[in-house]
Amino acid sequence: MADYFLTGREATLYWKGRDVLDRLDVVHRRGKAVTAVRPANREVVLASGETLGYDRLVVATGSRLHAPLPGVDLPGVYNFKSLTAAKSLVERARRGEVASALIVGAGFIGVEVALVLKDLGLAVTMVSRRWVMPRALDPEVGAIVLQALRARGVDVVLDQAAAGFEGERQVEALRLVSGEALRADVYVAATGVKPNCEYLQGSGLELDWGVRVDDSLRTSFVEIYAAGDVAETRDRLTGERYVHAYFPNAVDQGRVVAEHILGFETRYPGAESINSLRHVGVPLVAAGVPRGEALCLRDGPVLRKVFIADRRITGFRLAGDIRGAGVYRALMLKSVDVTPYGRHLLDPGFGAGSVALQAIAGG
Ligand SMILES: Cc1cc2nc3c(=O)[nH]c(=O)nc-3n(C[C@H](O)[C@H](O)[C@H](O)COP(=O)(O)OP(=O)(O)OC[C@H]3O[C@@H](n4cnc5c(N)ncnc54)[C@H](O)[C@@H]3O)c2cc1C
Repeated sequence: MADYFLTGREATLYWKGRDVLDRLDVVHRRGKAVTAVRPANREVVLASGETLGYDRLVVATGSRLHAPLPGVDLPGVYNFKSLTAAKSLVERARRGEVASALIVGAGFIGVEVALVLKDLGLAVTMVSRRWVMPRALDPEVGAIVLQALRARGVDVVLDQAAAGFEGERQVEALRLVSGEALRADVYVAATGVKPNCEYLQGSGLELDWGVRVDDSLRTSFVEIYAAGDVAETRDRLTGERYVHAYFPNAVDQGRVVAEHILGFETRYPGAESINSLRHVGVPLVAAGVPRGEALCLRDGPVLRKVFIADRRITGFRLAGDIRGAGVYRALMLKSVDVTPYGRHLLDPGFGAGSVALQAIAGG
């Protein structure tokens, strides 16, 4: 997303090419929303009332903004879940119609949006309930991103919860729980995402936060699959089931579903939690979960943290120097016993040596 808005290169959005549906001869009913699924009749219902039959159905309706805040629907509150809305805000910024932006939420999307708007010349303030990227990063790693954001000129307000957006016909302010009102030319809600699965209520599909699926990505009906941001999938490391709303997971799941429909019994190995930031000014990779003992190396602007439980890597956080990320990831996914490496695991050059690579190859 940031790549697209900063460089204007469409290839970063249409990663399979703009004409992919034509090339694959896929019928695309543009602008048609599905309002219900009727597994008993093997049909979906469109908003127009028309029904479409299926032999196999793939639920891939993604996610949308989750912002349980009063006033979030007021005109002037943007979110970057809609490309059209995001484009309109970016175009207004490019035309010089807006000079300042207030972003609620300092997660991955909030940070990306802050960087794009800052690069477009806006004065940007970001408000976070806790620290920066609290779901993906612990406070220590979050502080490195915070420092980088501030060095880029983003004003970050921490430990302040938003109470809601205020205004009569148009948003005029963001009210904090503390009572303070913050004002800007434009407001962006970046408070998280929510699977689009309301239209499945009453269908008989098992729903929780998202659509429940098994390790074949089948729902509670064998002929219906779910994939991407709408699906609650097993975490590859912890086994917990939740929505892993990352692009690479969606792509992998799409492939597994396609293989099943073609008759292969591919088992989905589980989703990964992995984040990387490229535009903030500090290279950063966060993967897996922070469980067990943390091996930590702090050297000026570099922070390397590897979490180990039961002698296996459960997660890692690298900031300032991300060398070794691929090796850690492979050791983690292959569940390799890393006790023989001791603190050498933290060496920036770790992984370039043959021992770890042999362990991965044989793991
Ligand atoms: C600003 C932003 C930045 C991001 N950056 C990254 C990143 O850098 N790296 C990363 O890994 N992930 C990133 N993500 C997350 C990534 O975009 C998602 O994980 C991915 O797009 C999920 O793909 P999907 O196909 O499941 O859902 P989506 O891409 O959301 O597609 C779902 C489609 O279903 C349609 N739809 C919904 N409901 C209905 C209905 N009832 N009837 C018919 N159609 C319907 C929608 O209109 C949409 O076209 C970012 C997300 C955002 C918003």
